[in-house]
Amino acid sequence: MKFISTRNSTPSFSLDMALLAGLAPDGGLFVPETLPQINRADFNPAMPFAAFASQLLHPFFASSQLENALPAICERAFNFTIPLTQVDASTWELELFHGPTLSFKDVGARFLAECLSLLSNQKPITLLVATSGDTGSAVAAAFYQKPGVTAVILYPEGQISKRQAHQINCWGENILSLAVKGSFDDCQHLVKSAFADPNWKDMGLCTANSVNIGRLLPQMSYYAYTSLQFYLAHQQPAGFIIPTGNLGNATAAYWAKAMGFPIREIVLATNANQVISDYLVTGDFKPRASINTLANAMDVGKPSNFERLQYLFPSWPHFKQEANTFSVSDEAIKETIKENYKIHQRFICPHTATAYNTRKQLSSEPWINVATAHPCKFDDIIKPLLNQVPPIPLAMEKLLARPCHERVVENDLNAIKRMKMMH
Ligand SMILES: *Cc1c(COP(=O)(O)O)cnc(C)c1O
Repeated sequence: MKFISTRNSTPSFSLDMALLAGLAPDGGLFVPETLPQINRADFNPAMPFAAFASQLLHPFFASSQLENALPAICERAFNFTIPLTQVDASTWELELFHGPTLSFKDVGARFLAECLSLLSNQKPITLLVATSGDTGSAVAAAFYQKPGVTAVILYPEGQISKRQAHQINCWGENILSLAVKGSFDDCQHLVKSAFADPNWKDMGLCTANSVNIGRLLPQMSYYAYTSLQFYLAHQQPAGFIIPTGNLGNATAAYWAKAMGFPIREIVLATNANQVISDYLVTGDFKPRASINTLANAMDVGKPSNFERLQYLFPSWPHFKQEANTFSVSDEAIKETIKENYKIHQRFICPHTATAYNTRKQLSSEPWINVATAHPCKFDDIIKPLLNQVPPIPLAMEKLLARPCHERVVENDLNAIKRMKMMH
């Protein structure tokens, strides 16, 4: 399988080159040259998730150096459960938050870590990541002690929660986490400048955000697995409601649907950042500055994976036919968290609440709300609403028990390079 740029102006790449490059040379995003059509009968959703994922991903790894290692990569990356639980007569929740750092980002980050670590046998890799929360912790946990890779994680000093900072700063060894004296945008700018700087490029610079195809491919697996299980159990397909920011998770769902897995429809739930809903109404994609909301991992004004969806649905009418979007305000997020506890005794995180709120506005056909993070990561938001906090799972307790150390650095690429050299 070859991978091509959404901008179509570069030759095709092997999977291994696409994983190492992150972005295509023409500035586009890598997409698979084709999405192989599956025969449903070939897939057995009673098999363990890791084995199912390995079968699904195999065509994408054909002729990759990693092809023979794929079953072991899946086995090591997916070592936690992804349960589907029933909420009411026509609603289910897909719990993607049982990994080591309690968000769905563990799935992509752990898979990418296995792949890059194997590819680093040719040349050591420096991973540079800007984060406003969940990506940083998932990447730090996933790459910790992975041979051949050093991960440098930049976050804005004082602008992420204490718990988030702890999850990023409790590692050491090959993980260098730095609190930058600046904003999240400054952190992103530093990453972009490093990619433009030959000195950094010589360090085998690589990215782990959702522009990297190595995060999206594994995310198809849980949509494929769950949709097939649901279909066989209920003789009808379910729709998915996906809390959306950079559109990475949603792109993976659309790819699984395009391959022929029984997904009835896909609905995107956003917070007050409405760039996608506006696009569906006007046909104009107008990136803008992001608005801060309670669902902060979805505070995105310029969704990077939009280009991949546009590649899949090239015209506006086609896009509109495939996507339906609901924008959910902070007030509605709070109401939904309260209501859900009252009616179902369920704690949900503010991101997941956008899916639950959207569910109320849809048909009585079966829907699966995608739960993107564990509620205990957001106890500062939940406590004032419910007067109690969600129980802390063992994975989080283990992390909180590790000592942590914050290193502050100037908003300056040379200062970061010095820290990297001393590390
Ligand atoms: C990253 C994240 C999202 C948004 O996912 P995208 O793939 O960027 O659309 C939603 N919820 C949580 C908890 C996240 O961490």
